[in-house]
Amino acid sequence: MRAYNFCAGPAALPTAVLEKAQQELLDWQGKGVSIMEMSHRSKDYVAVAEKAEADLRKLMNIPENYKVLFLQGGATLQFSAIPLNLLGKNSQADYIHTGIWSEKAIKEAQRYGQINIVEAGTKVEGKLAISDASTWQLSEQAAYVHYCENETIGGLQFNQIPETKAPLVADLSSSILSAPIDVSKFGLIYAGAQKNIGPAGLTLVIVRDDLLDQVKPEIPSLLKYSAQAKNDSMVNTPATYAWYLSGLVFEWLLEQGGVDAIHKINQQKAALLYGYIDASDFYNNPIAPANRSLMNVPFTLADSNLDKLFLEEAEKNHLLNLAGHRSVGGMRASIYNAVPLEAVQALVQFMDDFAKRNG
Ligand code: PMP
Repeated sequence: MRAYNFCAGPAALPTAVLEKAQQELLDWQGKGVSIMEMSHRSKDYVAVAEKAEADLRKLMNIPENYKVLFLQGGATLQFSAIPLNLLGKNSQADYIHTGIWSEKAIKEAQRYGQINIVEAGTKVEGKLAISDASTWQLSEQAAYVHYCENETIGGLQFNQIPETKAPLVADLSSSILSAPIDVSKFGLIYAGAQKNIGPAGLTLVIVRDDLLDQVKPEIPSLLKYSAQAKNDSMVNTPATYAWYLSGLVFEWLLEQGGVDAIHKINQQKAALLYGYIDASDFYNNPIAPANRSLMNVPFTLADSNLDKLFLEEAEKNHLLNLAGHRSVGGMRASIYNAVPLEAVQALVQFMDDFAKRNG
């Protein structure tokens, strides 16, 4: 049986997608070979790659003046690729700091430019929150403003797109495709695939055309967005299997009714879990309601000595990967698109039972 998987990433994939991949694994559409044994330049593979891009464009309503790149190296390599691509003419950028992932992006960007750090973490009634964009000291001269839309570890999420003069660059690794978003408000969006897109090994970059001409000359050629765009993300061999499988996830999402439809289910899942935690004296979530993540729900138990038992019993109940990030401890339930409402219902039932027996 398949367990309910609350892993933060690599994360749950839709069972229907894995079944389709299984069916096609040895003999892709009667060709006698697996898709992962095909040349990335073959007509068949290129059609798969192009279909994935077209479906993603449909799902996110991506305007024509944006390139969609299917790259490798994870979101982490984008922490370097972004300044290397965008700080060639003007070396200043603003970075909004809200947690561990935005901090990692800052550390890397500081190697390439003059980075103005905007501390946006705050507290509202004792809970962690993101300060209002109107209070931020953005610089006049920034080439771009970077932020992490959803801090996967902290479980802290922006509840609106910040208004900025400079182009917005957003890390959507853990929130892409979970809710509708207006791509035209961004200069660049990037995301590692292994949460809401597909398996690890693929990284999406969605970049506005006019930002392709400000590259730093020392950039490794493989990281250059303009070159990848010109070569349909095939400057070298791309992550063909991850790209194919992501394409299956996009097809699955379209079958579910697209991003609007999955967003409604995501809202139900989050409301159920946060609602239960808030009503309980045994569990606590540290985030102010306005900035709670739709995808990553951290929580603590009244007594951290019970953490180990909680995780052991959860696993016995087929509820997997609920431990918080190693840097923060506690618990975290990641409830990405492929985690069904029934999984969250089962989790809440288990949590309630555990609290009654141990509270
Ligand atoms: N940004 C965010 C918001 C993340 O959650 C992660 C991974 N969990 C990363 C960046 C780094 O991604 P990768 O492991 O693909 O480099």
